Amino acid sequence: MEKITEYFGTMVFDDRIMKATLSEKVYKSLKKTIDRGTPLDISIANAVAAAMKDWAVEKGATHYTHWFQPMTGVTAEKHDSFIAPAPDGRVIMEFSGKELIKGEPDASSFPSGGLRATFEARGYTAWDPTSYAFIKDGTLYIPTAFCSYTGEALDKKVPLLRSMEAINKQALRILRLFGNKKVKSVRTSVGCEQEYFLVDRNLWKKRKDLIMTGRTLFGAMSPKGQEMDDHYFGSIKPRVAEYMADLDKELWKLGILAKTKHNEVAPAQHELAPIYDSTNIAADHNQLTMEVMQKVALRHDLVCLLHEKPFLGVNGSGKHNNWSIATDEGENLLSPGETPAENAQFLLFLVAVIKAVDEYQDLLRLSVATAGNDHRLGANEAPPAVISIFLGDELTAVLDTIESDLPYDGVKKEKMQLGVDVLPKFSKDTTDRNRTSPFAFTGNKFEFRMPGSSNSISCANIHLNAAVAEELKQFADELEKADDFNKALHELIRRTVKEHKRIIFNGNGYGDEWLEEAEKRGLLNLKTTADAMPKICDKKNVDMLTAHGIFTEAEIFSRRDIMLENYIKTVNIEATTMIDMSRKELIPAIASFASDTAKAVTAKQAVVEVSCKYEKKLVKELSILIDDMDETTSLLEEAVEKLKTIDETVAASAFVKDDILPLMDKLRSLGDKAETLISEEYYPFPAYDKLLFGV
Ligand code: ADP
Ligand code: MG
Repeated sequence: MEKITEYFGTMVFDDRIMKATLSEKVYKSLKKTIDRGTPLDISIANAVAAAMKDWAVEKGATHYTHWFQPMTGVTAEKHDSFIAPAPDGRVIMEFSGKELIKGEPDASSFPSGGLRATFEARGYTAWDPTSYAFIKDGTLYIPTAFCSYTGEALDKKVPLLRSMEAINKQALRILRLFGNKKVKSVRTSVGCEQEYFLVDRNLWKKRKDLIMTGRTLFGAMSPKGQEMDDHYFGSIKPRVAEYMADLDKELWKLGILAKTKHNEVAPAQHELAPIYDSTNIAADHNQLTMEVMQKVALRHDLVCLLHEKPFLGVNGSGKHNNWSIATDEGENLLSPGETPAENAQFLLFLVAVIKAVDEYQDLLRLSVATAGNDHRLGANEAPPAVISIFLGDELTAVLDTIESDLPYDGVKKEKMQLGVDVLPKFSKDTTDRNRTSPFAFTGNKFEFRMPGSSNSISCANIHLNAAVAEELKQFADELEKADDFNKALHELIRRTVKEHKRIIFNGNGYGDEWLEEAEKRGLLNLKTTADAMPKICDKKNVDMLTAHGIFTEAEIFSRRDIMLENYIKTVNIEATTMIDMSRKELIPAIASFASDTAKAVTAKQAVVEVSCKYEKKLVKELSILIDDMDETTSLLEEAVEKLKTIDETVAASAFVKDDILPLMDKLRSLGDKAETLISEEYYPFPAYDKLLFGV
């Protein structure tokens, strides 16, 4: 057995390899670019490219690709080989600094939401040296950002890097106010817990819905679901364990710190969590993880479903985004400190997040809005579509004390004085209990639980970083002017708690009571993508995002359109798949069972005098269901036709929400009802019991 320490990161051009293969001058210069973002000289790029190529060729690579994250939500790549002709007919392997730094994929087929038309610009990819290059399937992958020639972002990485820069800039201002002169940079880190389902590949092949849409469009719940709670953290079946081991190994070779794996709540559902990393790297790694998960599954005759709601009636899959801010010296700014000054600083960052989440609920909600995730948020499972923050009782009590200027019982019978008093110790336990909150403080980080399992984590983090940067900016503006820092600080924290405590909710986020209470508090409940996405264009959001240089106004409008188009297309594919399954497979199967049952009545009655009450009732019930299904399928067909005539994106998305999805729900419930009435042999698709318990 090979040791993990020996193969970990073997496919990555990481710091070890850089040090070993680059001259000291080149290494130092590259390091400066990575750590501080200083521009890279072309001679340095040439040297790095040459070293990368030699290393990759040595490992058997023949091609390289600029790897990027267009607005489709999946990654894109175009492979070029290293070969160049030599005069004598041989080929040599070449790779220049120019090729490393910049690529020009044919960008015309990637969604740009009209940006390219507006700016008449082709797209190019630019190397992101902060994320290591790696080898996969014989190709050297170079992580890049994707822009138009006029500098408009065409991907999810450019705005992510911009948002990290925004928070860096504002957090540094705050840290200086607390007297920290040493800190050079501040970065956000993310560790995302990836949930997924595994189904048997042969069963998967028999379901058009899983193949075309990644979720079941028909299917009645099996006799057993997740009610026994016997799957969560349950022992892992051998076939799944083999898959997980194989997956870990592939990820480790790529330098991905896959750490935790376990069974999830629903049957056939599992989770993988890596050790957290700088946000842009975490985003790259998560994209790669999703890809490798699917690829490795095939080797085990399994299919990995990353859809947010593959099965109705059991939990869907999310991707908890654990987020924190830390300095280059390793100080976690969301960690309660040891000294009064550290505590005050912690509380300031804490209330900045609280204010950010309250004021930009809409941005956070829309940052995770997709057709798939709508089935999870707002359905009867955590988290709800309403955004709130869980802080835990202890921390909430501290904030209450500051707000009311009353004594805090937990510490001492005196007022809490910021910058003088020490905070009580919070045990991680008490801050980590609530599993239903969409945004929970878990001791030294926030866990944003709304992102869907197939979402790129970039969107969530772009908006989270931007919103927090905005609040830190407002705080810095105010505090920099203050004569008495501690007094101003106390006042600022107190005021912020008072104005934004409505977003704090420590109770159960599942129930209808909470939805009522949330409405009273004036919190937003944006149930679907069609409701949420247009809000990105609200003035307050445009102002904030453009002020911090996260997006230009044109980029914001283009993103709204791209995301809504994605929603419309996704539902459209689902609707047409449903129509196809209903007409070609399900209705014929039910009809044939009904007709065989009817024939049995005639046959039976030819030999004995019986009423055949049961059969007749069944045939009648099924006939009615078939008629209803036919009618609903026709209505769905008409709606799909009508959708084609609606040009305006926001109107089309509203039509999808109000007309198409309800018809799909209706058709499904009719089909599922029929499924429970007919014999298993007639049902044309593998049923839920096999899908959920078949591995
Ligand atoms: P849970 O109880 O939700 O399963 P864990 O403690 O296992 O949470 O951590 C979940 C994720 O949070 C992991 O990916 C972990 O690396 C990440 N994480 C831990 N600390 C931080 C931090 N300071 N910043 C960002 N992510 C973190
Ligand atoms: Mg978690």
